[in-house]
Amino acid sequence: MLLGGIEGGGTKFVCAVGDETGRIHQWVRIPTIDPAHTLDAAITFFKKQEVLRSEPLAAIGIGMFGPVDLNPASEHYGYITTTPKPGWAFTDVVGPVQKAFPDLPVGFDTDVNAAAMGEHRWGAGRSLGDFVYITMGTGIGAGVMAGGKLLHGLVHPEAGHLRIPRLPGDAFPGICPFHGDCWEGLCSGPAILKRTGIPAEDLPGNHEAWPLTARYTAIALADLVCALSPRRIILGGSVPRAGLLGRDRFLAMVRNGVREALGGYISVPELSGDLSGYIIPPLLEENAGICGALALAETAWEEDRHPTDSRNDVSSR
Ligand code: ZN
Repeated sequence: MLLGGIEGGGTKFVCAVGDETGRIHQWVRIPTIDPAHTLDAAITFFKKQEVLRSEPLAAIGIGMFGPVDLNPASEHYGYITTTPKPGWAFTDVVGPVQKAFPDLPVGFDTDVNAAAMGEHRWGAGRSLGDFVYITMGTGIGAGVMAGGKLLHGLVHPEAGHLRIPRLPGDAFPGICPFHGDCWEGLCSGPAILKRTGIPAEDLPGNHEAWPLTARYTAIALADLVCALSPRRIILGGSVPRAGLLGRDRFLAMVRNGVREALGGYISVPELSGDLSGYIIPPLLEENAGICGALALAETAWEEDRHPTDSRNDVSSR
């Protein structure tokens, strides 16, 4: 089955054709210029791949930078909505794709939900019905898998904006335009740059920003453990790679902090020990997003065939 996937980011769109095993056959990177050019280039790529392979696509999945409208009943379903990115506010993404491929099911979700789907289908969340996928980079986002389905609810989870109690002596005001010192305002890549004057990837391993970032992240993760009861937390993105500190040492700090923040209250084997099997990096690494878009396509295809037993039933939103 030939599946199409679009991972739409603020600087580039990655488009790929692949299959239901998660294998990517061909992919292309398209700069995020303006909606007309970028979407047109994406559609052209898929049309060409259909001709080259003499096989029509079965479905297309789109994981998109947000905010996006995921409510199928909304007149703006499938749109990027209030983004500050010039030219992209209230852009219809699903519409042009659906128009170019009128017979195909088109799946649509946030970029972080798509990545969570990718890890669920082929990565570190495989066979787990309940886990949280987090990406810490330009922003902080979380995709929540609950009972084998992505959690949407009112909109979609915005765990990056969890409010975090400040550590004594930390006067950094944070950078979130809405909250200042929410988790994203304290721990995203741009927050680390603002705090230290050094990009996270170049930050020395002994810089005091690392234990602070790990501690705040641990508090947020402990809150997510209490609120959502995930069976695993997958921590992805550029920040946890932790520059010159390295991902292993950063994750060890985070795991220690989570154990401390939980205070031994939740007594299960998964949350005892060093948490090295509980808080883990993504297995698909930087391919989580595009593989997730293929997984969204597969889910849309299943939904189209069996509207009642889909893993991501829109009627439950
Ligand atoms: Zn915020």
